[in-house]
Amino acid sequence: MTQHFDYIAIGGGSGGIASANRAAKHGKKAAVIEAKYIGGTCVNVGCVPKKAMWYAGQIADAMRYAPDYGFAGFLAKESTGQKALFDWGRLVKNREAYIERIHAAYQRGFDNNDVTVINGFAKFVDKNTVEVDGTLYTADHITIATGGRPQIPDIEGAEYGIDSDGFFALTEQPESVAVVGAGYIAVELAGVFQGLGSETHLLVRKEGPLRNFDPVLKDTLVEQMAKHGPTLHTHSIPERVEKLADGTLVIHLENGKTVGPVQQVVWAIGREPATDNINLEAAGVEVDARGFIPTDKYQNTNVEGIYAVGDNTGRAQLTPVAVAAGRRLCERLFNNKPHEHLDYANIATVVFSHPVIGTVGLTEPEAIAEYGEEQVKVYNSQFTALYQAITDEYRDPTRMKLICVGKEEKIVGIHSIGFGSDELLQGFAVAMKMGATKSDFDNTVAIHPTSAEEFVTLT
Ligand code: FAD
Ligand code: NDP
Repeated sequence: MTQHFDYIAIGGGSGGIASANRAAKHGKKAAVIEAKYIGGTCVNVGCVPKKAMWYAGQIADAMRYAPDYGFAGFLAKESTGQKALFDWGRLVKNREAYIERIHAAYQRGFDNNDVTVINGFAKFVDKNTVEVDGTLYTADHITIATGGRPQIPDIEGAEYGIDSDGFFALTEQPESVAVVGAGYIAVELAGVFQGLGSETHLLVRKEGPLRNFDPVLKDTLVEQMAKHGPTLHTHSIPERVEKLADGTLVIHLENGKTVGPVQQVVWAIGREPATDNINLEAAGVEVDARGFIPTDKYQNTNVEGIYAVGDNTGRAQLTPVAVAAGRRLCERLFNNKPHEHLDYANIATVVFSHPVIGTVGLTEPEAIAEYGEEQVKVYNSQFTALYQAITDEYRDPTRMKLICVGKEEKIVGIHSIGFGSDELLQGFAVAMKMGATKSDFDNTVAIHPTSAEEFVTLT
């Protein structure tokens, strides 16, 4: 028997859940099809467990500062060997229990909104029909929200390494680890391992990590890595991975050098879209050369009635982007808002590195390329956050940059690295989205003492 819905989301991750709930709130009969775990990447093997691990690193940092704050009996200042105090397995257990509570909360949301959850892997049969374990489901509107998966390099011994999903499956802390990659995930996971006391190597194939970020961010991050780790190996392209008799791993690089032996190798070289196995051909949906689904600004694919949101569209692979695109799509389809769509410009983002990075808008090189050097004015600030300033060691710099253009000094880029950069950015992103100028910032009285106040007192 075939079951019919007004709206089906294939994929129960950030985009699928948000869109199906919104469709149902507008009175539509909606379903989410999920092959694994409700919540998708973000909740199960992404943002949420990652942030828990990052917080553990933050707590380890706080314990290093503790003696200077007058607390005795914590870590010796010079110590990175807090493993005796730290139980990775217990953290993972508590983290997973929290994720179970999120699953339950999602289920309550579906129940309240009357969204049907179908467990299983969906494949297209035709443009209005999908099949899950032999059952057919039809819908007037189908959104492909299948997300992506980690890429693994095609080299000998790659299978000895793990990816970010494997990182979250670790129940014990490795004593030593090599993380390969130069983007968000590599930098974040290497920071977690280092912060929690593993001997950590970060291997990037070019001159440094986060190459597309503003120079102040990537240069400061590299500077801090040189001080506190992880050990950065630049121009390091793995050629093969060798497993030694004791189970440890050695990475042989194309330049003839080796890294290791280490207990774990983590691949973090990017993610590919999960679009190759859902029989898109049956529906006539086109993908680009890398498998991403091109959409117009309304999330329409090339087939009427079929939409795509989230990571599999290849644009800004962030949870709030998938959520916002999915919700706006359903506002457009089901709430009489024909022009509703997501504006992909100036999306704020945080890299949960050590130290943490917050960034929105153009980098300085991008601003100069777009507007010309004479139109661009840059304001910089460097200081030690009060939190660290009273300690003898670990006095990392916080660095901030405001990029303005034109006579009116319209703000086109805001960049910050250092303590608190994650939480301070959201409000500034609102201001930038509203078209704030430097004088708007200057006219805002500072909140003292905070790091954020620097952005309204720059000269
Ligand atoms: P997903 O969340 O990946 O959901 C897709 C779902 O579809 C999956 O559950 C999958 O099982 C299911 N599926 C796939 N094919 C089928 C099928 N044929 N049938 C049924 N179900 C199917 N973003 C942030 O904003 N902040 C962060 O801090 C952050 N940290 C991250 C850390 C890591 C380690 C990773 C990997 C990602 C992180 N992200 C972060 C990115 C974020 O997780 C993604 O952008 C977001 O999850 C994308 O949502 P989505 O709905 O497109 O896909
Ligand atoms: P990214 O695309 O961010 O980074 C992967 C990087 O790895 C590339 O940019 C490239 O950098 C390098 N790389 C590519 N191929 C190879 C290779 N064969 N060998 C070595 N290095 C290689 O991907 P991630 O997997 O880190 O993350 C995927 C996305 O998930 C992110 O783009 C982000 O949108 C999202 N995410 C967001 C987070 C957040 O919001 N905090 C956290 C985690 C993920 P180069 O060219 O410089 O070598």
